[in-house]
Amino acid sequence: MNQYLVDFNFPFLKLGLLFLLYAETHYSFKGIYSRLKKKEPEIIADVPHRIKQGQPIPVLLLIKDADQHSIELNSVHINLFSKEKKECFPFEFNALKITEKFWHKTVEIQSTDNLSGKYRIDVTIKFSINGKRREVKNDNYTCSSHAPLEIYISESGLPKTNGWHFGEFHCHTSYTDDQVEFGAPLNASRQLAEAMGLTFFCATDHSYDLDDDPDNYLKNDPSLKKWHSFQDDVRRLNQSNSSFIIIPGEEVSVGNSKNRNVHFLVLNHPELLPGDGDSAEKWLRTKPNLSIKEILRRINSNSLAFAAHPGVQPPFLEWLLVRRGKWNLQDCSNSGLHGLQIWNGTDEGLNEGKSLWIKRLLQGKRIFISGGNDAHGNFNRFRQVGLPFFTLRENYEHLFGKVRTGVFLEDKLSLPTLLKAFENGRMLITNGPFVELLVKNNRNESAKSGDCISGKNFKIDLNCLSSPEFGKLSELRIYTGNLITRKEQLFKSVLNFSELFKHHEELKMRKNSTPSYLRVELFSENQNEVLKCFTNPIWLNWTLG
Ligand SMILES: [Zn+2]
Ligand SMILES: [Zn+2]
Repeated sequence: MNQYLVDFNFPFLKLGLLFLLYAETHYSFKGIYSRLKKKEPEIIADVPHRIKQGQPIPVLLLIKDADQHSIELNSVHINLFSKEKKECFPFEFNALKITEKFWHKTVEIQSTDNLSGKYRIDVTIKFSINGKRREVKNDNYTCSSHAPLEIYISESGLPKTNGWHFGEFHCHTSYTDDQVEFGAPLNASRQLAEAMGLTFFCATDHSYDLDDDPDNYLKNDPSLKKWHSFQDDVRRLNQSNSSFIIIPGEEVSVGNSKNRNVHFLVLNHPELLPGDGDSAEKWLRTKPNLSIKEILRRINSNSLAFAAHPGVQPPFLEWLLVRRGKWNLQDCSNSGLHGLQIWNGTDEGLNEGKSLWIKRLLQGKRIFISGGNDAHGNFNRFRQVGLPFFTLRENYEHLFGKVRTGVFLEDKLSLPTLLKAFENGRMLITNGPFVELLVKNNRNESAKSGDCISGKNFKIDLNCLSSPEFGKLSELRIYTGNLITRKEQLFKSVLNFSELFKHHEELKMRKNSTPSYLRVELFSENQNEVLKCFTNPIWLNWTLG
């Protein structure tokens, strides 16, 4: 599997290790091949994978490392293909000289027709480098498919009821910039996220990227200029647009109970938490800086701590060479842990993460789940360098906003209201359908996901929604967790729905005396894909009176 180990050539091994490191859980606009082989900046076009009908489509143009290879941008031609026709949108740049390390611009296109469904977009970028004219389609990677970008134009918004907001819980931005990867700038990420129908994202760049010298990712900066500018950028962007919130965060590399490096999402912490055990920045130094416990002790009451992709098994080489590990039950049992980001863009590790969560729920712990994609830019598809730097793999996983965390807010959207809702577990996770879980007691008091409610008996209301984009409803499962016997069981499964995309289920629960929780899973089917939504629980406390 690994020829680098056999050869044991230090720089190549290190490159191989870095590649494998990021290849598994940290996907990006990989540039290593072109950086090694090409005397050109990296040029990438990206669009959101979905958008609501009637809105202009933002097209993100990214040019990276033009400080080393400057270009003159002549024009950009965007073709939008529908079944019957092709619409062209030309943008003139008039030999715009690009010499920055990181240049980006978003242009917008809008069809004259009322489109709905799947469409393809081709972005042709015409530029000159060293006096020579060049033309690239969608990106300038040597081995990529240059295939058109794909967008779903949805007639309806994301399925939800009033008060719910959707966002990306785990993503990387242009503050991640190192040997093998870089993300999209904060403001561009916000613009594309907004077009997708999201209202927040957690910017969770790696601790070992945020402490780098802004001009040299191989050096650390004791004054933390990069981290400070990240905080300032987030604050400024949040002040400029109250309808979208960026949650400042960090993906900290920390030591688990076996002193192996695992990832920890810390949101809204006023200081940088160090962690570079698995950064491969210092060769052969892989010891974690801080443990999970130490992080939890350090964070203040305004900050939140979620285990990042706890169920994902690190690849063998990462386990071997940079001491990567996995969150185990003991790690998830540390007090002060708010939740587990069990969904990380794919189904990999989802069941394992869910099972850790359910074990903790059955131990009586109020702990919550969230979901994200670990996207590094990648709004449409990711391009990943394949082994051994001669191929380029592309697929549609780990896309920004594909897996979403839904949050219920009683008040206006803001950073504090979002953080409060995360802390209180008023969340669900979905890549399609939506289910709202409501419980009312005999006194007509009501509870939502994350709440505890006392009563003699309970009425459960479930509002299930999907849309043509996410397919027809296929199954609803209601689970109860008995906190005395410590067993979870399927309380009810529904396979017949009143409408294709809409269903209301009402249930009564009586004559029970065991403290328990209730949680719901909803599935929909779209072509051959099963899409899902998991709620956080409501805890039921049975009283006599
Ligand atoms: Zn991670
Ligand atoms: Zn990550």
